[in-house]
Amino acid sequence: MALRETAGAPAGHVTNFIRNLVEADLAAGKYAGRRWSGRPGPASVQAGAPHDPARIRTRFPPEPNGYLHFGHAKSICLNFGLAADYGGLCHMRFDDTNPTREEQEYVDSILDAVRWLGFSWDGPDGSHLYYASDYFGLLYQFAEAFIRHGLAYVDSQSAEDMRARRGTLTQAGQASPYRDRPVEENLDLFRRMRAGEFADGTHVLRLKIDMGSPNINMRDPAIYRIRHAQHHRTGADWCVYPLYDYTHCISDALENITHSICTLEFEDHRPLYDWVLEQLASFGDLARPLPQQIEFARLNLSYVVLSKRKLIQLVEERHVEGWDDPRMPTLVGARRRGYTPEGFRLFADRIGVSKADSWIDFSVLEDCMREDLNGRAERRIAVLDPLKLIIDNYPAGQVEECQAPNHPQKPELGTRALPFCRELWIEREDFAESPPKGYFRLAPGAEVRLRYAYIVRCTSVEKDGQGRVTAVHCEYDPQTRSGTAGAETRKVKGNIHWLSARHAQPIEVRLYDRLFAVAHPGTGERDFLLDLNPESRRVITAFGERMLAEAEREQRLQFERHGYFVADRVEYGPGRPVFNRTVTLRDSWSRQEK
Ligand code: ATP
Ligand code: MG
Repeated sequence: MALRETAGAPAGHVTNFIRNLVEADLAAGKYAGRRWSGRPGPASVQAGAPHDPARIRTRFPPEPNGYLHFGHAKSICLNFGLAADYGGLCHMRFDDTNPTREEQEYVDSILDAVRWLGFSWDGPDGSHLYYASDYFGLLYQFAEAFIRHGLAYVDSQSAEDMRARRGTLTQAGQASPYRDRPVEENLDLFRRMRAGEFADGTHVLRLKIDMGSPNINMRDPAIYRIRHAQHHRTGADWCVYPLYDYTHCISDALENITHSICTLEFEDHRPLYDWVLEQLASFGDLARPLPQQIEFARLNLSYVVLSKRKLIQLVEERHVEGWDDPRMPTLVGARRRGYTPEGFRLFADRIGVSKADSWIDFSVLEDCMREDLNGRAERRIAVLDPLKLIIDNYPAGQVEECQAPNHPQKPELGTRALPFCRELWIEREDFAESPPKGYFRLAPGAEVRLRYAYIVRCTSVEKDGQGRVTAVHCEYDPQTRSGTAGAETRKVKGNIHWLSARHAQPIEVRLYDRLFAVAHPGTGERDFLLDLNPESRRVITAFGERMLAEAEREQRLQFERHGYFVADRVEYGPGRPVFNRTVTLRDSWSRQEK
């Protein structure tokens, strides 16, 4: 497989500052000299190896401590998309240095989600799936190197004392009383930390940089702490674990990453990223050129919460039915809802990347899904709120077949037969006893076209004791059958859908809507749960064409005039036709408060 074909990013990207930077680096040949032995490694491993065949390397580095959400999709599309577009590779890397919060279940679901979005971490030379925990050995060796160079020390202060001496944004920090421990003592203590001699929290290893730095991240950051805990991959091998800032830059360098893209809150960490790598390169442990960190604005989406803490609360307090509830902004939820990978990629392209935080309206994402689904979803008929229509002049017992196109813009997808007979189901909202002005559907004395069939005229209605309409009577004009000569010469404004009552298939339909009723849930001090949309899920029994009982799981369809629906990937099955509404045909929220 050629490098350029590693992922199918859509063509015609709008340029952005990251693309400009990558193009400038490529033009300058900044990374052309890198060597790649076929696996991540320090300078000693890469040095004599062939030139790196990947022109750039990016990575997607989640912590396996939760399910991926819409924000991660932006980062995935960006990292994998750049690699695909510039003849590079994107590594899938688990940032799994925190033993107590991580689980295999999350690893599996994250890999699944990235694959589902259409991306692959396979290169021509095999898989590029990595774990920061694979580097524990090297990270430990490098930490000893920092100690030997007099650039790291074991600090034995309590956490409170360390915090108190850290200083503030306006006040310099103060040196730890342990800052000048001799190298030999530091080495001995660090080795004993690693050997398990000390309890959690008794010592940490810190870099020796600058307690007076205006950047708090540079004030002797801790890089190792003691944690007697089982790790999901390394078990009980380690009881000291490296911290994020130290681990991330080194993992990037070991993997030959060129462009390490992260969200804006890491901007202040960049000097530390560069400092750590510069030192290791000067020790001879890492090969130059070194990777560079680039920050972009995270996705903020209205009508949604993306904070891990809030998502966990929604699940644990059962405001939703699980991580894959179709209303959740997780990728497993989106998939169950019927959102498409192509829709997400279109969305990522459309919103672009920038250096400034902003809000994207949820309707932008919904529009991308509509656009994608419109092209791919076959059309079907479903009547969600049925009202009986009786055609009095149509012979009882007669059935004829009306042909309906599977896709109005794609004749190659063919047609299907809809049985037509005397008693039909129509939508209750397609009939009005006293129609408002401009109502073109069925009303006493009025005419409509029954889509793909005949023109009918309403002659009378039946009502129950409460005055509610229970059936509508009409007469059809046999000369007006769709598709026959002259049928279209009679013009009527209304065109409604219908199903033969005798043939209709009961289906369960879950009408999902936005999970939150306001654009910014939990603004200020307000509890975000108060902003949940009470109408976000409504389950009804509706009628559909018979073939809706024989759909495939995850099949996406348009129910004409209603929206896009998907056969539920978990519950749909024989005798259980369950459909989820993905999105309506038109946006009903844009006129409301934002
Ligand atoms: P945590 O609070 O656990 O750090 P996180 O959402 O940052 O949560 P990570 O697993 O660290 O989760 O994220 C993996 C990658 O996804 C990171 O590179 C991060 O920058 C990116 N990412 C996370 N949230 C967003 C977002 N809202 N928009 C764009 N990228 C995001
Ligand atoms: Mg993070």
